[in-house]
Amino acid sequence: MSTAYTDLKLYIDGKWLNGEGRKSEDVINPATGKVLAKLPHASKADLDAALAAAEKGFKVWKAMSAYDRSKIMRKAADLLRERHDHVAKVQTQEQGKVYPESRMEVLTSADIIDWYAEEGRRSYGRIVPGRVKGVRQIVVQEPVGVVAAFTPWNFPTLTPVRKIAGALAAGCSVIIKASEETPGGCVELVKCFADAGLPEGVLNLVFGVPAEVSEHLIGSEVVKKVSFTGSIPVGKLLAGLAAKGMKKATMELGGHSPVMVFADADPEKAADTIAAFKYRNAGQVCISPTRFYVHENGYNKFVARFTEYAKNIKLGDGLEKGTTMGPLANPRRLDAMESIVNDAKARGGKVAAGGSRHGNQGFFFQPTVLTDIPDDSKIMTQEPFGPIAPIVPFKTFDEVMERANSLEFGLAAYAFTNSSATANAVGDAIESGMIGINSVAISTPETPFGGVKESGYGSEGGIEGLEAYMNVKFISQA
Ligand code: NAD
Repeated sequence: MSTAYTDLKLYIDGKWLNGEGRKSEDVINPATGKVLAKLPHASKADLDAALAAAEKGFKVWKAMSAYDRSKIMRKAADLLRERHDHVAKVQTQEQGKVYPESRMEVLTSADIIDWYAEEGRRSYGRIVPGRVKGVRQIVVQEPVGVVAAFTPWNFPTLTPVRKIAGALAAGCSVIIKASEETPGGCVELVKCFADAGLPEGVLNLVFGVPAEVSEHLIGSEVVKKVSFTGSIPVGKLLAGLAAKGMKKATMELGGHSPVMVFADADPEKAADTIAAFKYRNAGQVCISPTRFYVHENGYNKFVARFTEYAKNIKLGDGLEKGTTMGPLANPRRLDAMESIVNDAKARGGKVAAGGSRHGNQGFFFQPTVLTDIPDDSKIMTQEPFGPIAPIVPFKTFDEVMERANSLEFGLAAYAFTNSSATANAVGDAIESGMIGINSVAISTPETPFGGVKESGYGSEGGIEGLEAYMNVKFISQA
């Protein structure tokens, strides 16, 4: 496969800006540990220029009809589709995920732009009958204003596109700080919007020291909405900064998703479905299944099938044909995986598959299955964000629901059952923003994606994802 990476630049007020005297950092290929490119950091002056550009861009974009905005957005989606092979290879090199997953991410990103482009044309208001004759009561939706968006390293294109497309469809302008570790996917995405004819200043891309950039942008009165995807501690910090200025915020934070396989489900069929999903992106997915509770009747069969799947995974560079799992995105994840496995072993846990690093270059960790682990171990209580699957048995519905709901996370959950009564009961009882029942399809452009409890607030996707960038105004007209 050809392996050209991309030219990393900032994009401010319709101009691509490179190193020229700016601080910079290296972007590393996690499969090799080698430097791919240098990423320029935005200076304070660059951030101020982005704020001024976004303020100006908002006025232009808001004044355009939703129909015209939609045409530009659809053009960007088409360009992303045309360029998908290159963008997917850029992502695989900087993030590690295997090429087919990367390709799917880029194509789905194009779908998300299309969906929002269309939905933006349907941000209807309503007329509410008045109490007094002759009074018209009109409810309208208006774009919030300038959005500051912050995205992490696990989905370099998909996470930025959810924020950018939602905001643009609503009529907002955006300053996005994508991940410094995986910047190329977002650079390529922004190129598509620029080449599609998006007016200057409507979309701006910056990089830098995350804490400095977020404090500067969120602290500015120009910014009216904050959207963040990442860890819970950082989410709390940014939500606090947003609260200081009474700004709207969407927080898509970490999860620790329980999987419940009930007695009436086929344990092997469930294992086939959920194991493939577990090791997607080497488990570095906020909705990755991370705690497996299997009814004791099907437990042994489930563990055997799941372990077989894990052992057959082919680890390697994501650009090599036949690789089914790539490296972890950075060395921090390797340390975290080792600490989780050591803790499980110290508590009497058994390693049914994997359990250690792999190879002597890059950041590879074996697909791992742990059994016989107590509920208070690290793996059962802290988000692993990696390729580790702990599997434990349960006896009753009430018991498993209590264990599933016992943590402060509330992002995603999964259940397998052949009983509609159990499906209804688990759907009602689970404390999470999303649940897949006999399905893992919980993330689509058309449906809301978001968490409850410490997993955050607000939704991306669905009409909720558009409304997140709108203010409601009521006009009473006599
Ligand atoms: P981290 O908490 O240091 O960073 C998480 C993300 O937030 C990174 O992209 C980082 O650049 C960004 N960030 C950090 N401080 C920031 C700040 N002050 N302002 C703006 N952005 C900031 O952790 P990490 O080592 O990169 O990732 C570890 C944990 O993060 C994972 O275990 C997982 O819980 C969480 N995470 C969640 C998602 C998700 O999709 N929800 C994605 C990536 C990481």
